[in-house]
Amino acid sequence: MIYKRSSALFKEAQQYIPGGVNSPVRAFKAVGGDPVFIEHAKGAYLYDVDGNKLVDYIASWGPLILGHAYQPVLDALISKAEKGTSFGMPTQIETEIASLAVSMVPGIDKIRFVNSGTEACMSAVRLARGYTGKDKIIKFAGCYHGHSDSFLIEAGSGAVTFGVPNSPGVTAGTARDTLLAPYNDLNRVRELILENRGEIACIILEPVAGNMGCIPPADGFLEGLRDLCNENDILLVFDEVMTGFRLAAGGAQELYGVKADIVTFGKVIGGGLPVGAFAARNEIMDFLAPLGPVYQAGTLSGNPLAMAAGLAMLKALDRSPEIYQSLAEKTAYLHNGLDLALNESGLPYVINRVGSMISVHFTKEEVIDFESSAKGNNETFKKFFHGMLNRGIYLPPSAFESWFLNDALTYKDLDMTINACHDLVKTL
Ligand SMILES: *Cc1c(COP(=O)(O)O)cnc(C)c1O
Repeated sequence: MIYKRSSALFKEAQQYIPGGVNSPVRAFKAVGGDPVFIEHAKGAYLYDVDGNKLVDYIASWGPLILGHAYQPVLDALISKAEKGTSFGMPTQIETEIASLAVSMVPGIDKIRFVNSGTEACMSAVRLARGYTGKDKIIKFAGCYHGHSDSFLIEAGSGAVTFGVPNSPGVTAGTARDTLLAPYNDLNRVRELILENRGEIACIILEPVAGNMGCIPPADGFLEGLRDLCNENDILLVFDEVMTGFRLAAGGAQELYGVKADIVTFGKVIGGGLPVGAFAARNEIMDFLAPLGPVYQAGTLSGNPLAMAAGLAMLKALDRSPEIYQSLAEKTAYLHNGLDLALNESGLPYVINRVGSMISVHFTKEEVIDFESSAKGNNETFKKFFHGMLNRGIYLPPSAFESWFLNDALTYKDLDMTINACHDLVKTL
């Protein structure tokens, strides 16, 4: 494949945008080479500026669960745009998407819309602190909750990719209020609670981690956290920005049957537009301004275009719950095919998968937390990534990212992907 025009555009972009990108992982630092510039996309395929067609396994990092340029979302956007793009005043569509989301997700009464997953998580933690009157939070190493200060402590994916786990600019004061535990380690959480008795407002986590590759919660981990929160007056916050409306209509809460106190959303809930949201039962949500004392606001929050895209997406998922089964089957098929292909290579590897999230780690140990994920051989991953790209398969350009399947992928696409892997392993 030829990437001449992409490379030229990247060079130009670097002159005006730091690193040439508006979000770091896009820059290919972890895998080397120049990023691919996209011209357009449809269904499961990306078409780049050099005329290459790629099978897409990132789906804009998760949102496009039904594929690119999904017609009902486009139709909703076009008809909304003709009526104006933003008013800074209430619109009926905000209530429509809110009531639909509340009906799909277990245990929530009210939801507030923001513009990104970062904003959702940052606001959820402020709400948890305001509601409980406590300051500290527990997060897990390798979990990513957006780029707000409190979370940039061993934050997974982008932050880790760049070897700056603790970003300069985050003050010592802020870092002090964020306590860290290894993912899947209930004992460490129990110790932290004892060491900081009465000071912890919430425990925040990705109920299925997706920012250190895909890592499922160990048996009893989510239930154990729920019990510890109940016993110690701590709120449990599920960051479902990645898993919400992706693993099931009701997200990881539904899949694992464990209820969180506050849930955050992003990605799928916006149908490809910049949207985030956070939700909880009434007694917690009513603590937010204008009803309660915890302030949170946004000039473009709930704007009609974002809501139209999100509503069209949620309606499609609500109408066709069988999509989740279909996606899980496709992902299992891919898993099986990759397994056979990688086996031929003789290299150590681990494949993790939950629903339509999957990741390949070049290590022989089980991948259960950040430490085990970081043991993956990045040199092998680089060769794997570029080898697949040269064969027309677009994977996340970092070993710390989950792949996201979209329902526009056909079994023919999956076979092509598996065959590319067979072909590639001969060269590894
Ligand atoms: C992507 C992501 C975020 C941040 O969302 P943005 O829209 O990029 O700000 C937060 N939490 C998780 C789990 C994510 O995957």
